[in-house]
Amino acid sequence: MTPMTDPGGLRTITIEGNSSGPHLLITAGVHGDEFTSIAAVRTLAQTVTSSELTGRLTLVPIANRAAVLRGERTAEDGLDLARVCPGIPEGSITERTAAALSALIRSADAYIDLHTGSSTMSVMPLVGYTLHRDDTVLNRQRQMALNFNLPAVWGTSPDLEGRTLSVARDAGIPAIYAEFLGAGVLSDQGVEAYVDGCRNVMGLLGMVDREQPECRIGYVFEDERPGSGHMQVQNPSPATGFFRAVVELGDRVRPGDRIGRVVNIDDDTVTDIVCEVEGIVIVIWTFPVIHEGDSAFVILEIPENPTPPEED
Ligand SMILES: [Zn+2]
Repeated sequence: MTPMTDPGGLRTITIEGNSSGPHLLITAGVHGDEFTSIAAVRTLAQTVTSSELTGRLTLVPIANRAAVLRGERTAEDGLDLARVCPGIPEGSITERTAAALSALIRSADAYIDLHTGSSTMSVMPLVGYTLHRDDTVLNRQRQMALNFNLPAVWGTSPDLEGRTLSVARDAGIPAIYAEFLGAGVLSDQGVEAYVDGCRNVMGLLGMVDREQPECRIGYVFEDERPGSGHMQVQNPSPATGFFRAVVELGDRVRPGDRIGRVVNIDDDTVTDIVCEVEGIVIVIWTFPVIHEGDSAFVILEIPENPTPPEED
């Protein structure tokens, strides 16, 4: 294991296998308040050994160090690292980090980016990928996502820009990302699921001997609409006040269902949040206070009996 710091300030940990093979990059902490992902990559750094490994594993436990030190999503320049890739080498702190991270992504043969919900929201455990226009890359991404083995698998628009996965897309490198709860909480269950998921993908890539565990996937869904996969713009809260969800992650909801309520902090007026679409609840605001316009829920619009994509 070789800890080092590259010129862009990213601390990487490289584990060289005992024979040559693929180079897999796994990153966490692109956002500074996503602690389960960081703990999972730290665990991988402590547990994956050269003797069991074919190829090279590069780990970045904390992509956005400045944001982690603040305990917030972004560094002090307020820029979102997952919106400014491929970055600017001479730019602000987040732009520089994006440039270093993007160079690292381009050096890999496959890429996994681990996230969670932010400190104010929780995300259903899921793994996602872009609906890449190159079928070879797309099929590889699908297989990596399926092997990762979280409850939901979500293929989305290939046209979102600024993400780590946008850099991988442009370089033709198969890439997936994952989400596991959040709300500022470090989930031991999430760490275990992420470590298992990464090892499953390493098994798929021929980097470790690994028997794929029993399938835990409940939903596989692909959505090619422009903007699909963007989690921050849906179901804005109609009011400011104390917030409570009345549904849980993974619940199926329909138009007209009451899914949350906001109580005005001055006069106790109650505003219901009513669902407008049919689908599965995949993101819930968790902080006790919400402001008008904050995204209270994300509903993954899926048909009653979704057709899984064909496996190759
Ligand atoms: Zn994130």
